[in-house]
Amino acid sequence: GAVIGILGGGQLGRMLSMAAARLGLRCHVFEPGANPPAAQVADRLTTAGYDDHAALRDFAASVDVITYEFENIPTDALDLLEKLRPIRPGREALRVSQDRLTEKTFLRDLGLATAPYADVTDAASLQRAIDAIGRPAILKTRRFGYDGKGQVRLDPDSDPAAALADMAGAPAVLEGFVRFDREISVIAARGLTGEVACFDPGENVHKDGILHTTTVPAQLRPGLRSDAILLAARILGALDYVGVMGVELFVTDAGLVVNEIAPRVHNSGHWTQNGCVVDQFEQHIRAVAGWPLGNGARHADVVMENLIGDDMDRVADLARDPDVALHLYGKTETRPGRKMGHANRVIHR
Ligand code: ATP
Ligand code: MG
Ligand code: MG
Repeated sequence: GAVIGILGGGQLGRMLSMAAARLGLRCHVFEPGANPPAAQVADRLTTAGYDDHAALRDFAASVDVITYEFENIPTDALDLLEKLRPIRPGREALRVSQDRLTEKTFLRDLGLATAPYADVTDAASLQRAIDAIGRPAILKTRRFGYDGKGQVRLDPDSDPAAALADMAGAPAVLEGFVRFDREISVIAARGLTGEVACFDPGENVHKDGILHTTTVPAQLRPGLRSDAILLAARILGALDYVGVMGVELFVTDAGLVVNEIAPRVHNSGHWTQNGCVVDQFEQHIRAVAGWPLGNGARHADVVMENLIGDDMDRVADLARDPDVALHLYGKTETRPGRKMGHANRVIHR
């Protein structure tokens, strides 16, 4: 059988490895950090850094295809790996999504709505951006942000200089504040031969900048469900994408606004593990391994809740709940804000 190489051994790499194992495929995970959650399930683990080119070469030689659980893989490592094995999703998806400015420009050029945005490199460009976009607005680092990190809100009376200082010299974008009714996401998959399958949109609620719950079905007015799915399919087609992508959307009076895209399996798609015959992890493995996509139709209503930090204290209670499927990541150290697991509450219709 084929061997899937996975860059990144966090919970996403772990759940990808589990899905691959179910399909009889083996996984080799590459992860520089200690005690990666994927270690318990991957067939093979390399704990070298991305600057260790010999380790990267050995990794590539041992696998048939390379995929990843995070988008910030160093460019040098990608340059090396892509000469040796196919990387799926491909470089274009990574190039576009590693940088918020590139990503927004790509989406706008596709004709999709985004928040108004402008490039910010210094005090003068920040002032120009504020003049053009207005406030409230959000200043975000262009790269490496997640879980709301590297973001600061600019209210009409706040000090732009302080916000800029928070960026610590990193290139940033200013985004106009979108007045949304709700946030949804589409988890979309595209196979090697171009077929597209989207999971039902889920509705996302954040707490302290971190995803708290995803509920399916999302409450959407007529038309927006298909708009969301068609829009996601367009993004995948434009990138000649292979694999699963998370597309985060704001629902506004004027329609859907794209917040951001993630070229990988996505936290807001964890509900699919208990709401679909084939979940996002299997769908991703199928796509990158060149299999046909599976049936991602939703057969139940689900509320996915992230278990973050001390939420782990509730695990014993959740384990007794007959409607809850628990997914724990095997992390030994609990820290505030750390994603430890998730609970899928399944409501059979
Ligand atoms: P993730 O963990 O999803 O990758 P992130 O750090 O990349 O998060 P964003 O998705 O850009 O952050 O923003 C986090 C949340 O902040 C959004 O889900 C939304 O609730 C809010 N937000 C971000 N940008 C805007 C905006 N332009 N207008 C209104 N709200 C916003
Ligand atoms: Mg993000
Ligand atoms: Mg986000």
